[in-house]
Amino acid sequence: MWYPFTQMQEFTDHSPLTITAAQGCWLEDVQGKRYLDGVSSLWANVHGHRHPVIDKALQEQINRVAHSTMLGLSHPGGIELARQLVQLAPAGLSRVFYSDSGATSVEIALKMAYQYWQLQGETRRHKFLKLSEAYHGDTIGAVSLGGMDLFHERFGRLLFETIKVPTPHTYRHPFESDDEKDVIKRYFAVCEELIRAHADEACGFIVEPLIQGAAGMIVHPSGYLKHLRDLTRKHNMLFIVDEVAVGFGRTGRMFASEWEDVSPDLLCLGKGITGGYLPLAATLASEEIFAAFLGDYKELKTFFHGHTYTGNPLACAAALASLEVFAEEKTLDETVFGPKAEKYSAGMRHLAKLDHVGSVRYRGLMGGVELVRDKESKAPYPFEERLGYQVILEARKNGVMLRPLGDVIVLMPPLAVSLEELDILFAATEAAIIKVTES
Ligand SMILES: *Cc1c(COP(=O)(O)O)cnc(C)c1O
Repeated sequence: MWYPFTQMQEFTDHSPLTITAAQGCWLEDVQGKRYLDGVSSLWANVHGHRHPVIDKALQEQINRVAHSTMLGLSHPGGIELARQLVQLAPAGLSRVFYSDSGATSVEIALKMAYQYWQLQGETRRHKFLKLSEAYHGDTIGAVSLGGMDLFHERFGRLLFETIKVPTPHTYRHPFESDDEKDVIKRYFAVCEELIRAHADEACGFIVEPLIQGAAGMIVHPSGYLKHLRDLTRKHNMLFIVDEVAVGFGRTGRMFASEWEDVSPDLLCLGKGITGGYLPLAATLASEEIFAAFLGDYKELKTFFHGHTYTGNPLACAAALASLEVFAEEKTLDETVFGPKAEKYSAGMRHLAKLDHVGSVRYRGLMGGVELVRDKESKAPYPFEERLGYQVILEARKNGVMLRPLGDVIVLMPPLAVSLEELDILFAATEAAIIKVTES
């Protein structure tokens, strides 16, 4: 096999850790060793592994039909899931287009946005605004909307043109100012300038709301999302929110947009949508966008896009069951989520005191710990030392499975994590950071 995001030269030297089973928030390898799933199996798992309600829904669905196409046909699970997503999503989003991964949900949003303006006769609009450290997936359209040089720069000539708005990162910023309020003010102003300058050629602005995951868990200043919504509305461009990572409860609300009372024109969902069971994604659109595509067949307003497994019935059954568990277990209820978020926050604030932790950044149960060589100057470790990677290998010895983003240690357990499991997660992470940074 050729593994994703993996330098195969070193990977083939030793056999990779192989997971054969899981239960709740624990993974089990081929030797029977158990690991706490500290990153929710790549930010996807929500209610734990082998949840009885989701397992049962899948068994029942497989006794009916595993797959039938949505190109020209329909099925009850897809219809019901769309109905529930529209009910849960921010107001104004009324149409659901399925696909299979976060990246495809973004491809679909960008093609919808582009074609929408074409259909409106505004054919000069062909550009997208994005944040400088954005990550929206690894297909070429999504890479065009990305801004992480490590992943994206090499493909530069294959990408379409975009306008980069600086990510509002208060820990590392380009301004000559130590006053956080002042830094935030400047970020707000810069984005306003760029939105105004490109208003007449832009299809839309895409953003990961509240927290930019892959960039290293960069938390936006409060009010930034609302600021973008207001500006995109004022300057008449579409606002596309990518909740692939933050959606389905990670930040404590079903969707992160709710924190700032924001309704986007297009919303991208993936990762946790099936509770982390199966590949499914959805792009939600406003009725206004949907209506622009209506017309006689010969007018060629159709949205010519689809995938073989679009809206797969098994995946939809898992997604419906996951929503049922949210309701039944009151996953996002204050009394359930609150104590976990508090413990998580306390754990993060404790880690912040370590000598080589430069910054901790989080919302709800999603966040990261940035390791630095020197706390005062914020100087990073040399890239090739792979400190973050060494830390997660150490944590793995202590029975906690993590995956870093460079030197940012991501801590993102399933929402079903118990208070005791949070203790295990933070204790193992702390021990690993101390061991690696002090050696
Ligand atoms: C993971 C992620 C994606 C891509 O999702 P895939 O399912 O891996 O294609 C897109 N956007 C954000 C914000 C993500 O975190």
